[in-house]
Amino acid sequence: MAHASIIKKAITMFAANYNKNDAWIDRTLPIWERALENCKDKIVLDAVDEIMFSPSGYGTPKIGDVLEAAKRLGGIQAEKIHKSRNWCDDCRYHEGVRITVARYYRIDQNNKSVSSERVASCTCKDALEVHKGLMTYLERLEKLKADSRIKLHAYLYTYQGKNGFTWEEKDPVGYAEHCKRIDEQRKNGKQIQTFTKYMEK
Ligand SMILES: [Zn+2]
Repeated sequence: MAHASIIKKAITMFAANYNKNDAWIDRTLPIWERALENCKDKIVLDAVDEIMFSPSGYGTPKIGDVLEAAKRLGGIQAEKIHKSRNWCDDCRYHEGVRITVARYYRIDQNNKSVSSERVASCTCKDALEVHKGLMTYLERLEKLKADSRIKLHAYLYTYQGKNGFTWEEKDPVGYAEHCKRIDEQRKNGKQIQTFTKYMEK
């Protein structure tokens, strides 16, 4: 029921709050549209608000968190649809989705270190049915391995008991650089602003 423009608005607010770029929005929007299709417009916006204004342990909240908030706010009919799905243990938390993180070097770009996060479908029956448009997490791995421009050195994906990744897990290189910058700023007596709350678990 939620209007596509409302979901777009919600995800844009979310992206601004968690420092996500347009590519992230493009990748994530189809998931949100599917997950929130039976949610009322107001509930979608309220749920995102609630998530953004609650303290977060680390990283970016997931669509699962938005759905939880929507359920708490009482306006979700999608619950029935999603609850009736037989998600496997490894994808239940993200409702058929496996979050993947590939870390690799771009051989064609001076061995630049890259960390790339994508949502992928689980391979269980219901996930394949619900998330038809998405690559599975295993297909993504195959695709990365087959890409001659890159040298893959780590591939992470969510599973039962591991529902997300810390910044350090996702991008050790970027994280280390960030810590170094923060240290330097501290030394220079500057005010530390963004991101530090995500580092302190
Ligand atoms: Zn599954």
